[in-house]
Parts: sequence; C-alpha cells; structure tokens
Amino acid sequence: MFERQFIDSLDFANNNRELHGEITLAEMPRLQDKLSIPEVSFEHGHTEKINYTLHGFRDRNDKPMLKVKLDGLFQLQCQRCLQGIAYPLKLISQLLLVNHWDDSSVEEDEIDSILVDNHLDLLALFEEEILLNLPFAPRHPVGDCRPVQEGYVVEEIGRIDTNPFAVLSELKYK
Ligand SMILES: [Zn+2]
Repeated sequence: MFERQFIDSLDFANNNRELHGEITLAEMPRLQDKLSIPEVSFEHGHTEKINYTLHGFRDRNDKPMLKVKLDGLFQLQCQRCLQGIAYPLKLISQLLLVNHWDDSSVEEDEIDSILVDNHLDLLALFEEEILLNLPFAPRHPVGDCRPVQEGYVVEEIGRIDTNPFAVLSELKYK
C-alpha cells in the first residue's frame, strides 16, 4: 500500500529531487467514481496499479517546476453501451509552482500551475491530474458496442436449453 506521502514542493524543485513509486486505484476514491470497475476486483485485491514518477527542477527561466509522469491501465465506462473500455493512461504534465494565483504571467497561461506547498499531498496531486485528463465522454469505436448482441445470444441459449426440438424445427422452416 502507498503510504500517504507529502513533499515540500519548492524544495523538491530547487534540489532536482525525484520520486518513483506505485499507487493503486483503491486509494483514489474520487477517481473510482469515474471508472467502471467490478466490485469483485477490489474484494480480491486485484486493484489497478499506476506507476508514477515525480521530478522537480528549475526550467530555463529559472522557474520552479514539477513534472508528473503517470502510467497505468483503467476501465472507463462507455457512454453509449455502459460496458467497460480499456483506457491506457500515459500522462505527463508539467506544473509551474507559484506563490499566488496571479503570479503566472499571461504568456505562460498554457502551463498549468499549482500553489507552492511545503506539505503537498502527492496522492491528491496525482488524482487531480488524472481526473483533469480523463476523456469527458469515453466511447467504444463505432460498431464495437455489443450489449444488444450479447443479450440476443444469451436468450437463444436459454431457448435451446428449455426446448431444443422446438428451436430446431423453427430453424428448418426458415
Ligand atoms: Zn460501448
């Protein structure tokens, strides 16, 4: 299990620190709400894992930065058929550390920034980054949604089990 880790973000950037590790979905309740995960996978401890790398540095303008790299695999829920979709997470984001929200000047507004924090909660930071980057309405590629067809197959098997000859004779005269 991931021990809740906190860093001093400015110190982390100033000293080029780096952290690697692994977190599990079970530790991120806000994210779990967005995903399609069968309850069983938690009961049996098969929680999905995410590898993380956190790297602190000062950029070429001598601004303190954090680089977050997350790597994992999720099940999202298709908005059309409500079945799971495998979603590989490959996220790299660079965050500028600012003292106040108005510190980030206009020409840098394409860079995400976070407030300097000497007790930054890593798990909360990673969870937030993942949530910001999840597709808004994930869907299978057109033609790949299958629940209707699966329902039909199950029904047919049920009919054969209860009365195989009736189904056979129907087929003959088609
Ligand atoms: Zn679908």
